[in-house]
Formats: sequence, C-alpha cells, structure tokens
Amino acid sequence: MENPLKVIGTSSTTCGGCHSAGCGTCGPSPHTSKAPVAFNRREFGYTVLAASASALLSGCSQQKSVEQAPQPAPAAPALSPELAVVQTSKGPIMTTLEEFYKMGPGPSSSHTMGPMRITYDFFQRVSKLPEDQLQQATSLKVHLFGSLSATGKGHGTDRASLAGLLGKAPATCPPQFLDELAANPDQAYKVTLGPKTLDLTLKDIIFDATKGEFPHPNTMTAKLLAGDQTIYELEYYSVGGGFIEWKGYKPPDKGQPKYPFDHARDLKKFLIDDKIPLPQLLLQNEMAISGRSEKEIWEFLDQVAEVMVRGVDTGLTVESVLPGPIKLHSKAAALQHNLKTSSKGEAGRAVTRVASYGFAMGEENARGHIIVTAPTAGSAGIIPAVVKSLRDLNTPTQKIRDGFLAAAAIGYLCKHNATLSGAEGGCQAEVGVGSSMGAAMIAQALSANPKVVSNAAESALESHLGMTCDPVAGYVQVPCIERCAYGAVKAWTAYSIASEEIPEQRRVDLDTTIDAMALTAKEMNSKYKETSEGGLAVSVVLC
Ligand code: SF4
Repeated sequence: MENPLKVIGTSSTTCGGCHSAGCGTCGPSPHTSKAPVAFNRREFGYTVLAASASALLSGCSQQKSVEQAPQPAPAAPALSPELAVVQTSKGPIMTTLEEFYKMGPGPSSSHTMGPMRITYDFFQRVSKLPEDQLQQATSLKVHLFGSLSATGKGHGTDRASLAGLLGKAPATCPPQFLDELAANPDQAYKVTLGPKTLDLTLKDIIFDATKGEFPHPNTMTAKLLAGDQTIYELEYYSVGGGFIEWKGYKPPDKGQPKYPFDHARDLKKFLIDDKIPLPQLLLQNEMAISGRSEKEIWEFLDQVAEVMVRGVDTGLTVESVLPGPIKLHSKAAALQHNLKTSSKGEAGRAVTRVASYGFAMGEENARGHIIVTAPTAGSAGIIPAVVKSLRDLNTPTQKIRDGFLAAAAIGYLCKHNATLSGAEGGCQAEVGVGSSMGAAMIAQALSANPKVVSNAAESALESHLGMTCDPVAGYVQVPCIERCAYGAVKAWTAYSIASEEIPEQRRVDLDTTIDAMALTAKEMNSKYKETSEGGLAVSVVLC
C-alpha cells in the first residue's frame, strides 16, 4: 500500500491526502485506512457554525473559538479495503495530470468538488438509459451519508450535488449558477433526460444518516425513481482530493512510465543520460501512463489555465463578505483597484499585483466557485496567480504548458515522498508545496535550466517548512487565503533567487527538503494538522 508519508507511518485523516472539508485536495491517500485520532476542521467548523449561530442569537460572545470547540469526535469508521483508494500501491510515480489538476467547486475537494463530480457522473449515466426506462422516471434523489451529511450544509455539498445532477459539468459550471442555487433553495430547476424532463430542487439532495457502517465516511447514493420504484441506483464515495469511486469501481488501466522516477535525483539522471528536456520527459511519461495524445494533454492544460485565469479575473472584480462565521471581507478587488494609484514603486506594485491574484482565487474558493486543485483547494490560489502573472509577461502558451508539467512533477514528488495534506503535514504540505510548484512553473516557463527549476522549487519549499495548518473556525479562509497570496509571491522570490545564484552552489537539494518536510510533518503536534485546535484557530475571537 502506498504510504505517501513514509516517515510518518500513521494517519490522522479519514480521506485521501487532504480530505478536509475545506481544502484537502491532495488526492487519495491509502494510508487513511486508520480512523482519525482527533476531530478535523470539518467537524470543528460544523460545531463552530452552530456555536456562532447561538452567539448571534445571544449577543456577541467573547469566548475564544477554542472554548467553543467540541470534544474530539468519535473515531470515524475505517475505510473499506475494497476501495481502490486503499489498494493503491507504492512504486514509480503514476499520477496523471487529470488526477492532479482537478476542476470543480470549492471550498472542499471532498465535500464539494467530489459530490458534484459524482452527481454529474450519475447524470451522464442515467442520460444513457433506454428511452422506455427514462419515460417512466418521475424524480432524481441523492442521499448524503456520514461526514457528507454531518457537515455538507456548511460546505455547499447540496448545491454542488444539485448542480451536477442538473448536468452542469464541474469544470465549466458558471459561478453565478452556483450562487443562484444557494440563494433560491426552493426554486425548481429542469433537467432533461432523453424524452423526459424532471423538476429538481435542493430538497432532492437529502441529508441522510450521519452514522453507520459506510464503506467510506463520504458515502452518497443517487437514484432515478419512478414513483416509489427505483429505476437505477448507484452508491458512490468521495474518497478525498476530489477523487470519486462507486460500488464496483475499477481504477482505469494505466501504462508504465517511459522514464520511471520517484525522486528528483532519478529525473536528473534521465535528463543527463537521455539528453531530454524536462517538459519532454514529463510529457512522454504522461502520454505513456494516461494513454492520452500530446494534443489531448495540451488541450487539458489549456483548459486548466483558462479556469484558473477566469477565476482570478472574477475574484479581482467581486467584493463581498465571504460565507461562514468569520465574516471575512474579500481583499483582491481592493488591492487591484488601489494599484492604479499606488505610490509603492515598481517592487511594491509587482508584489501587490501578484498577491492580489492569489487573494482573488483564494476568495473564489471560499465562495464555493470553480477552482483547480494545485495541489489542494486551500492552496488553489497560488498557481493561478503564477499563471496570471506569467500571462502579464506575454509568456507563450506552450511555455505555460511546460510550466504546468514542471509544477506537476514537484507536486507528484511531494505527494509520493511526503504528503499534500494539511491533516498530515500542516500547511507546509499545501501552501508550501503550491509555492514550490509555482516556483518550478515560473522557472520552466521562463526557460530556466532544470537545475534552476529544481533549485527554485527547493527554495520555495524550504521557506515554508514547519508551517502549520490552523484554519480559524474550520473554514478555509484565515489564514489560507492570505497564504495563497504569500505562496505566489514567494514562488516568484524563489525563482528570482534560483535564477540569479550560481546553481551549483545551492547547498540543499529538492529531495532533501521534501524529506525534511516529511520529517517535520511526522513530528508536528497534531494540534497544527487541520484540527483547528491550535495556532490562529484558537487565538482568533469570533463574535
Ligand atoms: S491552513 Fe493551509 S493546510 Fe490548513 S486549511 Fe488552510 S490552506 Fe489548507
């Protein structure tokens, strides 16, 4: 079984990588078969929502959020050994771009993106049923179980599920549509399945049992009904990181990588021995593993770039109080607006501009709009800020594609040898890795040599080592959004250092720093791993 964090050996999360309600998006992490040892930020956030509502009713409470914290939640059920996410084995890196850069609604890869991907999958399946079956259909229903039921309300699981059921693709669903669903909970929407058109409302997404013997804590069922009779039903699991499985799921067959690697040093050897450019090597591997053509891969990365830049552009124009008990006001639009009259000079304006891009996408994630995991939802503001700033420099499309490949390689290495989960490794594993990916992306897109790409990634990761995960009230807002802005700025800083220093004089290599992140993760107190039991999460007073 794969154990992404080999030096950790134990797990504190129930889902893959970062399966947190807020930002976990690291992808399935098979070592999650152990039950959580402490309540996570989803459970915490749910309780704090209730506490905040009570505080609103009774007047401002000056209690610290730690005083509102529940006792540790009972251990979640172990994952079924039949789930593919549990059976994944260690070996050369086999992750593909489509598994890594996942598009869908924030703020939670497991509680928002996964459910929408599930209901969209169900919509596609039932659309293909024979006409005579569809003719009898009277309704579609989705039942949420376990953690999805317990905490889905606060994270928009119902509206995301309804959007997918209505045939909205997770990658392209307009944010306005998601907002409309949330604002009009009683409104009926039409969905056409072959010869039949059905009316659906949010009430068709049912918050069912929170406790039970589920194959996975994030279990849901989708049904096509004719009156009381079930025409078609499927049980699904949102297994973390936006990945989904269903009853009887078989993972897609993958090819063997042309250049098998699991450390940066293996990559380096191939680059030297085969005299192949880094993006070419990564492209060849992607084609071999995924079976996709070069054209398909470029089309996918172009779509990822468009979703990212669209998200940044939207975030730069919207000013709002973000959902949830923190009442956090967005900042991206103000930063961008004030740039026009800024007297900060060239350096100040450049930093502000990049930071505003990071804020913009981080805030879009908090709004529940469409984001791309890179590597997680909580850190999803970093790479879009990098892409947008590279576009500001008129960087050619192909160079940005190459940058995406280099960034993915850094993410794969961190996932394989450490972790991408705040629940396992703190924020160094999410924002730290995102910043490291961003640094590699900039270096690659600006045609730096592979040593500089690796050094830039190392530098950014090194400067995030030890960063804890302490989201206030369990929401992926404070400190997450601001950290996305810093992550993007630090990506540029790391690239600037790496491209100006003498590459051979860098004392620490990337593999060493990834190992250090894994070791730091192992030794980090569990209070600082998504549980909202430490740091800012207990220092900030919510009124
Ligand atoms: S603090 Fe970092 S790791 Fe934790 S939820 Fe926020 S972005 Fe994710």
